[in-house]
Amino acid sequence: MHSGYVALVGRPNVGKSTLMNALLGEKISIVSSRPQTTRNRISGILSSEQGQIVFVDTPGIHAGRGELNKYMVEVALRSLGDVDVVAVLVDAARTPGAADEEIITRAFASGRPVVLILNKVDAIDKAALLPLIDRLRSLGEYADILPLSALTGDGIERLPEVLLRLLPEHPPFFPTDQLTEVPERFIAAELIREKLFELLREEIPYSTAVEIEKFDESDPTIIRVAAIVIVERDSQKGIVIGKGGKMLKEVGTRARLDLEKLLATRVFLEIFVKVVPHWTRNASDLKRFGYE
Ligand code: GDP
Ligand code: MG
Repeated sequence: MHSGYVALVGRPNVGKSTLMNALLGEKISIVSSRPQTTRNRISGILSSEQGQIVFVDTPGIHAGRGELNKYMVEVALRSLGDVDVVAVLVDAARTPGAADEEIITRAFASGRPVVLILNKVDAIDKAALLPLIDRLRSLGEYADILPLSALTGDGIERLPEVLLRLLPEHPPFFPTDQLTEVPERFIAAELIREKLFELLREEIPYSTAVEIEKFDESDPTIIRVAAIVIVERDSQKGIVIGKGGKMLKEVGTRARLDLEKLLATRVFLEIFVKVVPHWTRNASDLKRFGYE
């Protein structure tokens, strides 16, 4: 058997989280049409007769400002050093830029085998692939190059095969029914963040963090969760709650449905909103909300 860690890296919005969820068949990592939703490294475990692949989904690597952004890019770059194989995703529907090339160069510098994934092939004319591959090939010797669509699932079935071949011979690290190393309460917080990204405009989701205050599994028929949405300003608090509490209710309902699906049980979810001024700019607040 072959087992080990594979980092999924790339610019924001190339489809890293979508690909990980598609491979696992479960929503472990949140997805959004807006950049920079994934803030921490989130693992997804794929087990088969041939071994075990532990995918590490990472925040997008980009040149951003501010403490939270700096933290996110560091998380992604650090993960290059802790894995056995690096899978770099590029968005085939966009011409790769200097940022993609920089990430690929860093991936090669890690000394790990690098697999190049050209994602979103559903959105392009197949003829456009060759010039793209030619261009990225000059950056180094890839262990493999795979065009695929994380969204439609087209071409993804070959990826586990390719990765297992590159992983060291090793028995599985985790029980084969385990889906992630991330605690369920963390996924609960992430699902709430995802809904904030779905439902709120502009910069507000980027100013939110979610803390899980209670994750009570003592009743076997229902899990009781209490969460706090942290915002930076009073005005944001009003928007997150909405008129008559309508927005918060919608966030809660959507998050609860996803959580019930993932945990295969009923969930009672309460959400509160709290203002912590300028938390995204303050290193100790970042730490407090789990970004350390
Ligand atoms: P990440 O930031 O790299 O984790 O990207 P996400 O997984 O959050 O995806 C960003 C956006 O790209 C979402 O709107 C996805 O639905 C979309 N997306 C991801 N994979 C594909 C794909 O294969 N084809 C198309 N057309 N869109 C995709
Ligand atoms: Mg992501």
